[in-house]
Amino acid sequence: MIRITLPDGSVREVQEGTTILEVAEGLGPRLARSTACARFDGELRDVRERLAKDGALVLFTAGSPEALETLRHTATHVMAQAVKRLLPDAKLGIGPAIEDGFYYDFDLPRSLTEDDLAKISDEMKAIIATDLPITRREVSKKEARALLEKRGETYKLELVEDLEGDLVTLFEQGDFVDLCRGPHLRSTGGVKADAFKLLSVAGAYWRGDEKRPMLQRIYGTAFEKAKDLADRLWQLEEAAKRDHRKLGKDLDLFSIHEEGGAGLVCWHPKGARLRRTIEEFWYAEHDRAGYETVTTPHIGKADLWSISGHLGFYRENMYSPMDIDGVDYYIKPMNCPYQILIYKTRMHSYRELPIRMAELGTVYRYERSGVLHGLLRVRGFTIDDAHIICRADQIDGEIRRVYEFSMNMLSAFGFDTFDIYLATRPREGKAVGEPERWEQATAALRSALDARGLPYAVDEGGGAFYGPKIDIKVRDSLGRPWQCSTIQFDFNLPDRFDMTYIAEDGRQARPYMVHRALLGSLERFIGCLIETYGGAFPVWLAPVQAAVIPIADRHVAYAHDVAAKMKAAGIRAIVDETSERMNAKIRNAQLQKIPYMLVLGDREQEAGAASLRLRTEEDLGAKPIGEIIDLVRRTIDTKSLGLT
Ligand SMILES: [Zn+2]
Ligand SMILES: [Zn+2]
Repeated sequence: MIRITLPDGSVREVQEGTTILEVAEGLGPRLARSTACARFDGELRDVRERLAKDGALVLFTAGSPEALETLRHTATHVMAQAVKRLLPDAKLGIGPAIEDGFYYDFDLPRSLTEDDLAKISDEMKAIIATDLPITRREVSKKEARALLEKRGETYKLELVEDLEGDLVTLFEQGDFVDLCRGPHLRSTGGVKADAFKLLSVAGAYWRGDEKRPMLQRIYGTAFEKAKDLADRLWQLEEAAKRDHRKLGKDLDLFSIHEEGGAGLVCWHPKGARLRRTIEEFWYAEHDRAGYETVTTPHIGKADLWSISGHLGFYRENMYSPMDIDGVDYYIKPMNCPYQILIYKTRMHSYRELPIRMAELGTVYRYERSGVLHGLLRVRGFTIDDAHIICRADQIDGEIRRVYEFSMNMLSAFGFDTFDIYLATRPREGKAVGEPERWEQATAALRSALDARGLPYAVDEGGGAFYGPKIDIKVRDSLGRPWQCSTIQFDFNLPDRFDMTYIAEDGRQARPYMVHRALLGSLERFIGCLIETYGGAFPVWLAPVQAAVIPIADRHVAYAHDVAAKMKAAGIRAIVDETSERMNAKIRNAQLQKIPYMLVLGDREQEAGAASLRLRTEEDLGAKPIGEIIDLVRRTIDTKSLGLT
């Protein structure tokens, strides 16, 4: 162990060889953020100097998220230095670490090619090999301006003006200097030559503003170990293979048309079948869980959206109004107001509550065309929406039910890893509703989460202005999170719509209202399913569950016989009557990710059997048709993820 005496006299012990990153605190927010990090080598002099005022030391150990972020941020500087060496006219934009790696934006005299990325990468390796010290310098804005002007860094000059205070920090490594708040590793050698990779180039507007120049953004990623990089690259490759837009086309599930409009999805027969299977399951589960389903209109008068507050607070997500008999109507961005109108058509007694109203409600919201992405970001989508209207004494039980319901629903689709967040009351003045209501609602959310015993993160102050909420993300087999369920209290709409019920004492009381969606939007959920399973859906969801493959024309009649028996057993079967050879038919079925293939020849026909093959390329040999039907039925009924 190495003993470190800190400026305040306290002593910290650190394992020898530990990479630690030091950050000073207590020097005011700007200085604290700009303090350099160092790779610990027993020398703590620099840090001591910086902490001489009244600092405290925070140690990040190797492998911590902060350490990785610092490594990646340092990699962007190494990349920028390499770019400046190869293209001296390059102007620097910004270069942060991001969740999966890092990027840097450049204004360049020409477009970058794949070849350039290789050259930049090689230059980065040279910079890493020379292990240039990265030094931090605090200078006046005036000095920074002079230096950046000399270097022609017009974008950085603009950033200087936005910084508060008179001092800014520069970081230098050899011939390279950057305006940055840090922190960075102590030297360029801290970035591992075998553990970084430049991934792609994309256009990016300066400061995200479409009216400003388009810069070139180089994306890369970096890790502490080569093995971690290899894992990540495999993951990226696998994700590309599973891209739902590509599979949506290959498997003939859906399309989005230039002529129809961006972000508007057409479901093809197979995609619609998948969607209907999900909907039927959803309806059945909601019937069992005590929900009533409703259907509401797609457009509504401006008045309705004024009362609900959408025209006040949600206007930029709504489309322009249409004129109907001189009155403005809007296409609905949410389902809540109409469900509330249904509630309000008559008086409700405390005995009737809770009322659970559910709807597969299609809504339309404006998204900028640049952010639209297949099924994941669209302009029209269907929310598996429900509103629970209940009394104060019911909220605990109701929240617990919804949370359990959500977990069971998501588990049925094969998800078993969840990221759960509890978002609480925003700070004073940013929230509607009395504090006691917030406390009660938050306690109900908390107790439901605690009862299930799964870990969750608390997002302190992260609730909507109208109430606290639980968000649930599922993780797919590549470890990617997908936002699905949300359970939100609402103290706003019950007031705005003056919702009431007759309490036990005969007086009118205000009910609690909870909005919840379990799958989120069907579009995004199906996009998530496609990518999670790479199109090889669990049998119960597969649009086609079995392909019956006659070897020759003389087996076609028997094939139809077999398919009819399967259909009668509720199995989605097709007959491949094409004139292709058997092997081609099997390959086609495999490409279509059809779980079961029943191959029929003379022998099978005589025996009333079929040769059973799986999409996993396993060959189970000849089996009686009855046995095959039982097997397929069983995997459907149990929602099994396997095939046998
Ligand atoms: Zn930096
Ligand atoms: Zn709602």
